[in-house]
Amino acid sequence: MILSEALGSFRSVLDGLERVLITTHVNPDGDAVGSVLALRGILRSLGKQAEIVLDDEIPVKYRFLIDDPVYRVDDREFLDMVTDGGFEMAVYVDASEPERAGAVSQHLDEWMVDGAPVANIDHHISNTGFGDIVIVDGERASAAELVLDLSQFLGIELTPPVANQLFAAVLTDTGRFQFSNTSPESLQAAGSLVAAGAVPSLVTERIYFQRPAAFYQLLGSIFSDLEMHYDGRLCVMTMSIDQARQFFPTESVDTEGIVDFTVQIDGTDLGAFVRQMETGVYRVSLRSRGDVDVRAIAEAFGGGGHAKAAGCRIEGKVDEVKERVVAEIGRHLG
Ligand code: 5GP
Ligand code: MN
Repeated sequence: MILSEALGSFRSVLDGLERVLITTHVNPDGDAVGSVLALRGILRSLGKQAEIVLDDEIPVKYRFLIDDPVYRVDDREFLDMVTDGGFEMAVYVDASEPERAGAVSQHLDEWMVDGAPVANIDHHISNTGFGDIVIVDGERASAAELVLDLSQFLGIELTPPVANQLFAAVLTDTGRFQFSNTSPESLQAAGSLVAAGAVPSLVTERIYFQRPAAFYQLLGSIFSDLEMHYDGRLCVMTMSIDQARQFFPTESVDTEGIVDFTVQIDGTDLGAFVRQMETGVYRVSLRSRGDVDVRAIAEAFGGGGHAKAAGCRIEGKVDEVKERVVAEIGRHLG
């Protein structure tokens, strides 16, 4: 299905219903958060009852974007809403497969009316093409650009809060317009969002420049333990639970962006950030700045993502996990 056809079918399906459920992937990033919030605002401006339900909390640094409650799967208010009548359409945003939404996907059937259509708005090349309405373009830098396309297609005039939400999404998924995925479309999207009232200095300030000092102390500890492999072509950084607790005794740490430092070192083609989640469980974030496709590496461990940014979950002891990742990367280095 080409994009304009998909947008058309989204519009005609939407015309006949009222209640729309919106979700995104676990561990939501800026694109996920900004895109679901903006989509909710856009659908509400069409008079729809649109709600967001997520498996995870929204990270602190994105909370300034929230303009109305966002629900978790066990929120009473949300479950009461479901008993009033099921949702008539589900929209997944920035999720390459339904399972990426975690517990939301497991409960979805309970919350939807029978036969409710599923829409899939995403920009992962690895997107499985699930759903009845597939608005997927693997060439786009952010899911938000597709949400913006949809709003333009639907003829909606964006409000400044929605413009800020979409701007935050494009900003974060392009690494502040610095990653190689930054395209004319990303910059055009940014331009029209600023014209619609987005404030780049405010969004940047809130997301990037309000980290606690402890974050930089933790970063120092991670940096001092970094490892280089393959003649400096690969940098591996790790963070254990104990290490995180040393600097953040009571809260969980927002590690988004740490992996990007691995490919800011002269000579590196690839970087990995290995984060301990619980005893024997690690999340691995991968980045490439050359020709190596890190999605293929993540897929070897059951994960996925994009050519230049991907991730997976690996179980084992830290040294084994690192060894397996380094060995798999070695197989892909030319
Ligand atoms: P990050 O390293 O920032 O967590 O993720 C980078 C990219 O890989 C994102 O586009 C994210 O959606 C994708 N990704 C990360 N972990 C996984 C995973 O376990 N499975 C899949 N399919 N994609 C992942
Ligand atoms: Mn994204």
